[in-house]
Amino acid sequence: MAAPEFKVPEFREFPTVPALVPGAMAHSKPYVANEKVQEGIGLPGQLVENWEAKAIDKFGELLGKYRSLKVFMDSCVHCGACTDKCHYFIGTGDPKNMPVARQELMRSVYRRYFTLPGKLFPKLVGARDMTREVLDEWFSYFWQCSECRRCSVFCPYGIDTAEVTMAARHIMDSIGHGQKYSNEILGKVHKIGNNLGLPGPALEDTLLGLEEDVKEDTGVDVKYPLDVQGAEVLLVTPSADFFAEPHIESLIGYGKVFHAAGISWTLSSYASEAGNFGLFNGDYNMMRKVAMRIREQALELGVKRIVVGECGHAWRVAYAFWNTLIGLGNNGNDPYAVELQKQLDPRYKEPSHICEFTWDLIQQGRLKFDKEANDSRIITFHDSCNVARGSRMGDHAGGQFDIPRSIIKAVANHYVDMAPETVREKTFCCGGGGGVLTDDLLELRVKGAFPRMEALKHTVDAHGVNFMATICAICKAQFSKVLPYYGFNMRMVGGVHQLVSTAIRLGDEQ
Ligand code: SF4
Ligand code: SF4
Repeated sequence: MAAPEFKVPEFREFPTVPALVPGAMAHSKPYVANEKVQEGIGLPGQLVENWEAKAIDKFGELLGKYRSLKVFMDSCVHCGACTDKCHYFIGTGDPKNMPVARQELMRSVYRRYFTLPGKLFPKLVGARDMTREVLDEWFSYFWQCSECRRCSVFCPYGIDTAEVTMAARHIMDSIGHGQKYSNEILGKVHKIGNNLGLPGPALEDTLLGLEEDVKEDTGVDVKYPLDVQGAEVLLVTPSADFFAEPHIESLIGYGKVFHAAGISWTLSSYASEAGNFGLFNGDYNMMRKVAMRIREQALELGVKRIVVGECGHAWRVAYAFWNTLIGLGNNGNDPYAVELQKQLDPRYKEPSHICEFTWDLIQQGRLKFDKEANDSRIITFHDSCNVARGSRMGDHAGGQFDIPRSIIKAVANHYVDMAPETVREKTFCCGGGGGVLTDDLLELRVKGAFPRMEALKHTVDAHGVNFMATICAICKAQFSKVLPYYGFNMRMVGGVHQLVSTAIRLGDEQ
């Protein structure tokens, strides 16, 4: 690894509030999307004429549509409870990365155009015109938020900075000032079906290769089926699972679980992406368009269940938004949603997370493990933000924390949690979520990972932890990249189903 052009934060004996370094990250900006990328997903190619007024119009539209945004704009009392809760503030010291300051970037504009004091006495109330300088600041600092929602856990009013960020990004998109990485990915999903732009034949090849590898490794014919009409389960998983390391190890694990349980399943070449970057841009129409591919395929293939693989934001979109976006669940009343409800098996939760699916099978005694196979691993678990704070699993509160840990404990003998203030609902973001997993934001990603790296270091020093499991494709990619900056092996991160894959007993199924 070449020496970085920025200073990697140093581990501290006792975590304290960082010293303020005004402007420390003012230079951090992702690439702006070019005309082709923007127009490819139906957005203006470049900054539109009269963009200032159009941005304010869009802002007004969002305030009218989303009551939460208006409440968030009006209700902050500047109590300071959120100030030191953001991993980007902790890692950079830049005061504009305090959640309250991030909100203020938008609230100052809100005051100017949507409140009487701001219209009459802008300077007195800290109201700002929408200017190029403000837009540049928005582009910089709203792309220094991973929409992780940690700050909202500590806010006495429940103000969700992630929603403020989403609204700001949506406004910028609408005036032709989008972010290259996220919008390029959305374009690939619309055109090809997944974030990586992996076409159907390449996917088929990959899955065939995987079958050969697993056969060689285990001697068992585990299948990784694609586009199988009439399969019981449609598995929708992040496309990184098809080829990236360590993601593919979890895909191998899913296949082994289906095989061992004797449940027919399929992947889809048309709906080959569980991730949904529409969430990151706060654009519900975009989210719907991406999610609709999954409904179309579920109908087309005639499956009875839809299961979502290890991906944090995909699970949040599925759990919290699929009902309104694609009519999955009780809300759907358009003919296709009604047809899908009739088709799906009512005995199962729709959608289900792969961890719920595997845990149910474990509880029924339908999977057997050799836990010793994982004995070389001392494991900890990183809760991913969108699972921890944007969804649930199972039938009890906190299931999204307990189920992955229960699976790990069922398949391995050595498990330790990281410090309580850094896990479960208080978990720290990996530093690469929310659309910032791009090398043009590497400094931000490395510094934003700092609080998680500190917590990890404590478990490494105290317990010899050598494996950090997680159930998010972005966390896996981000940690693989940033772990070496903190002196750890990049292979230390992996999926929960990677651990399942190591220990599961094949070949003795009934
Ligand atoms: S990155 Fe997370 S903690 Fe920081 S401001 Fe955004 S939502 Fe809040
Ligand atoms: S914790 Fe909530 S009310 Fe307090 S400063 Fe932060 S956003 Fe405002």
